Amino acid sequence: MGLAEITGRVQAAEAAAGRKPGEVRLIAVSKVQPADRVEAVLAEGHRLFGENYVQEAAAKWPAWKALYPGVELHMIGPLQTNKAKLAVDLFDAIHTLDRPSLAERLARLAEAQGACPDLFVQVNTGAEPQKAGILPDEADAFIASCRDMGLPVVGLMCIPPEGEDSTPHFAALRAMAARNGLRGLSMGMSSDFEAAIAHGASHVRVGSAIFGARDYAPKA
Ligand SMILES: *Cc1c(COP(=O)(O)O)cnc(C)c1O
Repeated sequence: MGLAEITGRVQAAEAAAGRKPGEVRLIAVSKVQPADRVEAVLAEGHRLFGENYVQEAAAKWPAWKALYPGVELHMIGPLQTNKAKLAVDLFDAIHTLDRPSLAERLARLAEAQGACPDLFVQVNTGAEPQKAGILPDEADAFIASCRDMGLPVVGLMCIPPEGEDSTPHFAALRAMAARNGLRGLSMGMSSDFEAAIAHGASHVRVGSAIFGARDYAPKA
């Protein structure tokens, strides 16, 4: 556990898969983690972080960005349309473009601001009713409509169903990206990032294996 161990495992997985060293980007998922744990990882030199909640990220990161040049912040949680402006201002990439209304909002913001974070389309590869994401059957058309709006879609993202083997989901996402000419593949978490790297992940999102378990319990 810890940044050094996970970085080493990412490198080993790259080598085992015959991929270029450094090709896979490790997103350290810092949501809900105490500040001292995040600061320790910043002090070790890591600069790429993922957050799930716009307001939490907006409260924590401006100060760290000022203190640690080169920080890159990726939004990996569900994004409410009314927080899109804040998210566009704060994040370098958004991995959770999951519906037409959000695409339309982001397109309007991109036009107004003349810039837009890199976007990943979230695909609900397991077609789970409770989960966000575009259904696999609808992904090609959705990606095309985002491109028509001028949005900078760079890849696809998935969160495979819990308790299932992730690998068929990773393989399906990779095939979907390939046929749409997309290079970005945001997939793999603490429990399955090595399998995701074997299946072509460009970005793995690892939280608890770097920082330790998240404590969601209210503070006493
Ligand atoms: C929290 C979260 C992660 C990190 O999960 P770990 O199991 O702690 O590695 C990755 N991706 C998403 C979308 C998350 O919400």
